[in-house]
Amino acid sequence: MSEVCTLCGQGTLQPATVVDTFNHAGKPLQVADIEVSRCSHCGEELVTAQQYRKNQLRVADAKRRADGLLTSEEIRTIRKRHHISQAEASQWFGGGANAFSKYERGEVLQSMAMDTLLRLVDTVPGALDFIRARHGAVLP
Ligand SMILES: [Zn+2]
Repeated sequence: MSEVCTLCGQGTLQPATVVDTFNHAGKPLQVADIEVSRCSHCGEELVTAQQYRKNQLRVADAKRRADGLLTSEEIRTIRKRHHISQAEASQWFGGGANAFSKYERGEVLQSMAMDTLLRLVDTVPGALDFIRARHGAVLP
């Protein structure tokens, strides 16, 4: 990344990581490895759209760890282990349209009820078949 800084017009923007503090349920939550682009001349920091998406995921997962919820990667792993698409998961488990896309991008945190349901489906044999059958899906 060698984009020229629009603020000073002299330095170039270099990728860097910082520790940032976010508010979580009224308490400060420190998150490491927040990505920024820092000007080599004036030190101004900005966040690109791509960095923003990565940071959003890191912050969401930090909040989930603080609350004892599954992380984005854990949600994706459970879903894939049971060969469920994001659309099927949203349809069968609830959470609204595109819920699993949002959970896995860290855009929305899953509820405690959803988190429990995912753990149940992953742990208890027959639980997924029960849910599928309720939604009229053809069993494998
Ligand atoms: Zn600058």
